Amino acid sequence: MIWEELTRQLQSLSENNLLRQRKTLESACSTQAVIDGRTVLAFCSNDYLGLASHPALADAVCASARQWGTGSGGSHVVSGHMGPHDALEKALAGFVGADRALFYSTGYMANVGVVPTLVGRGDAVFADRLNHASLIDAVQLSRAEHRRYAHNNMEQLEKMLAASDAKRKLILTDAVFSMDGDLAPLKALIGLAERYDAWLVVDDAHGFGVLGREGRGSLDHAGLSFSPRLVYVGTLGKAAGVSGAFVAGSETVIEWLMQRSRSYIFTTATSPVMASAILASLELIRNGDDRRCHLQALIDRLQRGLDGSKWKLLPSFTAIQPVVVGENDAVLNVSAELAKRNIWVPAIRPPTVPKGSARLRISLSAAHTHEQVAQLVDALREMA
Ligand code: PMP
Repeated sequence: MIWEELTRQLQSLSENNLLRQRKTLESACSTQAVIDGRTVLAFCSNDYLGLASHPALADAVCASARQWGTGSGGSHVVSGHMGPHDALEKALAGFVGADRALFYSTGYMANVGVVPTLVGRGDAVFADRLNHASLIDAVQLSRAEHRRYAHNNMEQLEKMLAASDAKRKLILTDAVFSMDGDLAPLKALIGLAERYDAWLVVDDAHGFGVLGREGRGSLDHAGLSFSPRLVYVGTLGKAAGVSGAFVAGSETVIEWLMQRSRSYIFTTATSPVMASAILASLELIRNGDDRRCHLQALIDRLQRGLDGSKWKLLPSFTAIQPVVVGENDAVLNVSAELAKRNIWVPAIRPPTVPKGSARLRISLSAAHTHEQVAQLVDALREMA
């Protein structure tokens, strides 16, 4: 029977410790979460600034729902584009220093919307091997040739660009790598994009709100400003504490996306309520230097705490602090040991990360306290 194959495949996932199991949370997940009636200390959320539970965002949601209703009722290009969406796009463009921005429902949709509108059959995408899954899917949807270079290897990328006879070229990278926490060399990448007349599309899901002056993101952190070939994707479900994403770039690129990007056009516009919440969040991000400083202090504390122990953190100075454990069963054991101590750190396994590099992905948030980080350090040191 056609479905028996699925049963076998599920069994195989289970035997290889690759079955994903989700938990139903009985509370919001900030630095703590209630699961099965138990309160656990959580290091798994991408709510890097601790804004997801901020009362100003909840107030914005309530006020907006009363004024605009809960649903947009249409796609942006028909009847769903309302005042809060428009105000948000203008605010986001101004914040990151771009001509214009376009608001998408999620980062996944922004990525699969952007790449196929810029390149297609006969073109080539040059992509970092550690790019996020949504970028990989975006290239497949575009039907362009998918050339992958070793992580952050600019020499290899340049050789590929020089040898390529593709009609149009596009360089595609995470700005902060989601499972490693390290940064892409954006200055070198824009240099190569200019030398080889390529687009550069940067996914800053984990940098927006956290890096750069006032949290303007990875471009600002790298001292770069927009150029006509640079397309920036920021997501709004992580540091911004809400959901959604935006693409920022030149007037021409954004107008082209509005005309052609299928995941923008053929979907109901995100609730205006979310746009209002993000506008409130943007103010907190802009004025969030205290939060970013505290987050940095927590990162330093974790790194110092584990220094010299069995646990080797990857070289990351962002809120993503991974500890590579190796095999799938080993990382599940470590995560389970932490869970026994009421600490929740997710175990990340293939295909999210390369085989043999299963890891604990410790995510820190400005909402954590020094004591909470010390508790994690103590538990890991005890287990070692
Ligand atoms: N890009 C990167 C690098 C991500 O880590 C994620 C989310 N994990 C996304 C895009 C997708 O964003 P969203 O969750 O808003 O769909």
